[in-house]
Amino acid sequence: MTAPRFKRIMLKVGGESLLGDQPYGIDPKAALQVAEKIRGIYQRHIQIAVVIGGGNIFRGLAGSKGGIERATADYMGMLATVMNGMALQDALEKIGVPTRMQSALQMPAVAENFIRRKAIRNMEKGRVVILSAGTGVPYVTTDTGASLHALELKCDVLMKATKVDGIYDKDPQKYPDAKRFKTLNFKDAVGVESIEVMDTAAMAMSKDNNMPVMVFELFESNNLEAAVDGQDVGTYVSNDVKTELA
Ligand code: UDP
Repeated sequence: MTAPRFKRIMLKVGGESLLGDQPYGIDPKAALQVAEKIRGIYQRHIQIAVVIGGGNIFRGLAGSKGGIERATADYMGMLATVMNGMALQDALEKIGVPTRMQSALQMPAVAENFIRRKAIRNMEKGRVVILSAGTGVPYVTTDTGASLHALELKCDVLMKATKVDGIYDKDPQKYPDAKRFKTLNFKDAVGVESIEVMDTAAMAMSKDNNMPVMVFELFESNNLEAAVDGQDVGTYVSNDVKTELA
């Protein structure tokens, strides 16, 4: 077995990965599947922080379109990520992975408060740290939370799990000849409308602070393990690579 390419990772998992076959909410079987993927790299002694989204339950933007005041709706979205975090924590611990959950909104009965140094210490002690409630402030998404936390926790990479297996030069659903980027320089990714893998604030923050982003598909066989090994799965976005197709 080769040594993993990354020692400490930030994994961003969207709320939709907990949907299973349901249109809404949390399917415990899907949570277990996500947990098993995480265990695969945990067993390789990689330090792992996970930022979990809330889109399977509530998104602030959708709520505000329905008439709820935007900031209130965003706080509701953050609460959704806490429920997801608890489901993921439950699943991980059921399969023997020790965890700590921290929340950017204070909720001491269910999660530690987010404390940077404690999060780092937990990872060093071999616990998967689940970070819920994103940044703790409205008008952003958990992608921004993931980028911010990846930076302050000194992660080697932000691994963004998506439904597609990387970033393509054009929409692969519309164009059968679309090609995946193996590597992508941030300057070719930030501000490019067709590249919608992460919100622009998160992409810009990652670019400006040199936090590489790996975009990959989580459920495909052993993708996550392969990605941390530096194999050619997904798209690696960084300031230090040339843009190349796979
Ligand atoms: N949210 C927020 N601030 C944050 C993170 C999340 O206001 O720092 C709210 C926002 O309304 C967002 C919702 O929480 O829509 C759920 O998060 P997100 O949409 O990022 O979930 P995902 O798409 O990853 O499942």
